[in-house]
Amino acid sequence: MTKVYYNGDVNEVALKGKKVAVIGYGSQGHAHALNLKESGVDVVVGVRQGKSFQKAVEDGHQVVSVAEAAEQAEVIMVLLPDEQQQKVYEEEIRDALKDGDSLAFAHGFNIHFNQVVAPENVDVFLVAPKGPGHLVRRTFEDGAGVPALFAIYQDVSGEAKDTALAYAKAIGSARAGVLETTFKEETETDLFGEQAVLCGGLTSLVKAGFETLVEAGYQPEVAYFECLHELKLIVDLMYEDGMAGMRYSISDTAQWGDFVSGPRVVDERVKQSMKEILTDIQSGKFAKEWILENKANRPQFNAINNSEKEHQIEEVGKKLRDMMPFVKRKQKEVVSASA
Ligand code: NAD
Ligand code: MG
Ligand code: MG
Ligand code: MG
Ligand code: MG
Ligand code: MG
Repeated sequence: MTKVYYNGDVNEVALKGKKVAVIGYGSQGHAHALNLKESGVDVVVGVRQGKSFQKAVEDGHQVVSVAEAAEQAEVIMVLLPDEQQQKVYEEEIRDALKDGDSLAFAHGFNIHFNQVVAPENVDVFLVAPKGPGHLVRRTFEDGAGVPALFAIYQDVSGEAKDTALAYAKAIGSARAGVLETTFKEETETDLFGEQAVLCGGLTSLVKAGFETLVEAGYQPEVAYFECLHELKLIVDLMYEDGMAGMRYSISDTAQWGDFVSGPRVVDERVKQSMKEILTDIQSGKFAKEWILENKANRPQFNAINNSEKEHQIEEVGKKLRDMMPFVKRKQKEVVSASA
């Protein structure tokens, strides 16, 4: 069995006397910086001027430029958008790294695909919470945490593992469980999960269900509640008690439908496509195309994003959600990723 680390397994001294630079103050950045600070860690936030900078100041942090934060700190956690990391690393972080510093990430993309090549005199590790940044913050405030993976890529100090675990504990993840992985495994499984299941698989499933009902003449509002809104209630049950727990709560009619129709939706062809998606991730094809898409200023990303926003499910969803203000939570207060 894989070892799972909890609070009691973690040696906190690894972060004592060290300053942590949180680079970027978006979804992950704000959560890491606030949680670290409330855990007693000395934090400096490094971010460019703009909304994120202002937000970090309002949250009470010491906020400086990326280069200045990297200079001041011994642990530099890079929480910039993946596609910006290479440029910012080369222009503002690389020259600030000193012997024995730690260069850290929340996702292995840039190290694994050789976009960031770290010098040999620093530790390199990742602590990747397995959840959105807003939940990393919200669960911490609730006394809980989001599970995380950690991985060591380079260990010059001999303490990289202790530092990574102390970091994971300070953001609240060791309350939920921390697992050791490699940069390769974290990068490939994270990309696969978000593409095939969590984000890509889910949005395509919801849209296909919604469109099937609407095209058959049913009311879009009914289709929205059935295929999107109710999803959260089902997922919450799976989160709390697994698939069997969810099935216990639904009617036997729903459960029988699950058994006979689920495999007709996600059939062997879908699984074959998943294998192809995984192959493109493993070969670096997906990474290369995403890097080139960014170099070209995102023509396809923007075109698809605009047409997706115009989908009927967004129009009807907005109307219905406006009547349910209670479904919106705190994440709206946090600056958007583009800030
Ligand atoms: P984000 O887009 O929410 O935030 C990025 C931050 O970087 C913003 O504060 C932005 O102002 C700042 N920034 C952007 N360009 C900059 C520049 N050139 N110079 C200085 N600052 C700049 O990013 P995120 O979603 O939190 O992702 C950060 C990292 O965490 C990524 O490696 C991502 O894969 C990883 N991660 C994210 C999540 C998530 O919940 N979003 C989950 C797990 C891991
Ligand atoms: Mg430094
Ligand atoms: Mg992920
Ligand atoms: Mg990801
Ligand atoms: Mg029902
Ligand atoms: Mg039942």
